[in-house]
Amino acid sequence: MEIKVTKAAELKQKPNEDALGFGQYFTDYMFVMDWTKGEGWHDARIVPYGNLSLSPAATVFHYGAEIFEGMKAYRGVDGKVRLFRPEENFKRMNNSAERMSLPQFDGDFMLEALEKLLTMELDWVPHAPNTSLYIRPFEFAVDPQLGVHGYNNCMFVIICSPVGNYYKEGLAPVKIVIETEDVRAVRGGTGYAKCGGNYAASQRAGTRAEEQGYSQVLWLDGVERRYIEEVGSMNVMFKIAGKVVTPKLTGSVLPGITRKSCIELCKNWGVEVEERLLSVDELIAAIEDGTLEEAWGTGTAAVVSPIG
Ligand SMILES: *Cc1c(COP(=O)(O)O)cnc(C)c1O
Repeated sequence: MEIKVTKAAELKQKPNEDALGFGQYFTDYMFVMDWTKGEGWHDARIVPYGNLSLSPAATVFHYGAEIFEGMKAYRGVDGKVRLFRPEENFKRMNNSAERMSLPQFDGDFMLEALEKLLTMELDWVPHAPNTSLYIRPFEFAVDPQLGVHGYNNCMFVIICSPVGNYYKEGLAPVKIVIETEDVRAVRGGTGYAKCGGNYAASQRAGTRAEEQGYSQVLWLDGVERRYIEEVGSMNVMFKIAGKVVTPKLTGSVLPGITRKSCIELCKNWGVEVEERLLSVDELIAAIEDGTLEEAWGTGTAAVVSPIG
């Protein structure tokens, strides 16, 4: 599929790299393509970053038909810009699409489209330490009708945002609270899909935690409320008695690419890693008997984030 480019009349001024925050600034361009049932994906284009025009009846507004990804382009010490395992993101996005009945796409084409977009935005990949260009592909259904059926019209968009640290604490340990009331996801639900609905369901607990002075919520499983699943929107890992322990992918845990990469690195370094069920009782016992050595979250946005 050809990708049509529409140039911006004027390029934006770049923000100060020392105060980027997270997801507040957007680049000059975005990638868009449409999907129509029977026809498939079409009209791939790179256009100036700007608002979308959708019917107020569009499915995404009413029934949450949306999936997304988060990945980063980093500028190396050699000045070169590199993506971190982007084919993993597009593979996962297709798994999310399958779960949410949204149309899948050709991962190789998406990688090509992303590279074309980034080539136009290279100056937006920041140079300062601890900064990167956050890339947000997302897909949603836009059928202009309120009936609940399969989808006939969808859109795929990629926007990019130069970012600094996700947490204002930077690499200082974050405070987390064990959530005992709300659950993020259940087995058989959409926990393993990266979809907006999971975030909508976790917002209440997140807001409550912030009001109490915590940065994130430690999620327990939705059935027994016993096993640790994730921390906020990150996967979670603990070092207990010399071994790295992380919740196994039960279906309600998001299969993080940072998680996968950390597991691979640890094993490569000869550190033992256990992917298994980890109960909150076991964690508390490990705190009490001093065998809990470290705790951290993993995710593209915050990378590796220590828990205090
Ligand atoms: C995206 C995400 C993660 C982390 O996945 P990465 O691929 O490492 O960025 C973890 N948990 C949730 C709920 C997520 O949405």
